Amino acid sequence: MRINRYMTHAVVVALAMAMSGYTAVDRSLFPDFHAAAVTAAAADESSAVGDVSLGRDSVIIKPLSVPTSALASRAPIVHVVVDGDTLESIGRQFKLPWRDVVWSNPGLRMPLKVGRPLELPPVPGVVVVVRKGDTATSLAAAYGVDVSTVLGFNRIRGPQLMPGTVLVIPVDPAQGPNLSTGVPADPVDPGQLLCPIAGAKIIQQFGPTSFAIEPSFGGYLHFHTGIDLLAGYGTSIVASAGGRVTAAGPADYFGIRVEVTDSFGLVEVYAHMSQVAVAVGQEVQQGATVGSVGSTGLSIGAHLHFQLEVGRVPTAPGPLIGC
Ligand SMILES: [Zn+2]
Repeated sequence: MRINRYMTHAVVVALAMAMSGYTAVDRSLFPDFHAAAVTAAAADESSAVGDVSLGRDSVIIKPLSVPTSALASRAPIVHVVVDGDTLESIGRQFKLPWRDVVWSNPGLRMPLKVGRPLELPPVPGVVVVVRKGDTATSLAAAYGVDVSTVLGFNRIRGPQLMPGTVLVIPVDPAQGPNLSTGVPADPVDPGQLLCPIAGAKIIQQFGPTSFAIEPSFGGYLHFHTGIDLLAGYGTSIVASAGGRVTAAGPADYFGIRVEVTDSFGLVEVYAHMSQVAVAVGQEVQQGATVGSVGSTGLSIGAHLHFQLEVGRVPTAPGPLIGC
């Protein structure tokens, strides 16, 4: 199932930090975080844990946190979606990157449905339900963390885990994953997505629209599934976040497009291009040119349609630096 493939992937690539009880979630409290990096190790690209296959960008181990005082509670928080909730607003409310909300609730669909309970980690991280066959060791391997991270945060004593047990894997919100090359994939921190065309004007936002050319989505007759940036024919388009090129070339509605999938499983689509500058399989860094503005596909003039997908579901890009 497509949705779950992406969700699982995103969870698998979560990177964790050790935490014998850290309380702060604000990166500013960890000024030396990066400098304190100690180990980096690669997960075996072909290994599988349970039914979770570790893919090409499963490499993640990153630095450890600075333990301070004990958390009040380490249990997941259940938040029931209320009218007006978005991933972003829930993230703000609970001081979590919105991706943590997605990671912790596999199969989540946008727009959020009022009344749906969501599992949220008490610290930036991921809520994981233990499946049959999972052990502390296999989960540690799957998440690229030391087994003591899994055991410690969740106060588990032995290696045996009961299926159905809910665990929290802490993830530093300021950290990005590494590609298998060891290079940081991107700073795909929400809020650190680059404008694909610096200085370009946004001429159509994400959301319901009266513009009849747009397809129906999420119960709306016409819904704009990305944002449109105005730019002249041939203008260079750069990667908003780094990752691997997972599609390049003609597609129906999008025309000539490039799709970049980052190590969190987020997919960025750059549509209506005149030409592409990258090939499938290629790794691109944030800011690298991926193609040129055009008007191919369902387009009525030169512009870039930039779309962000989470689990194959279009979602509102957060703030873009430079738009
Ligand atoms: Zn568009």
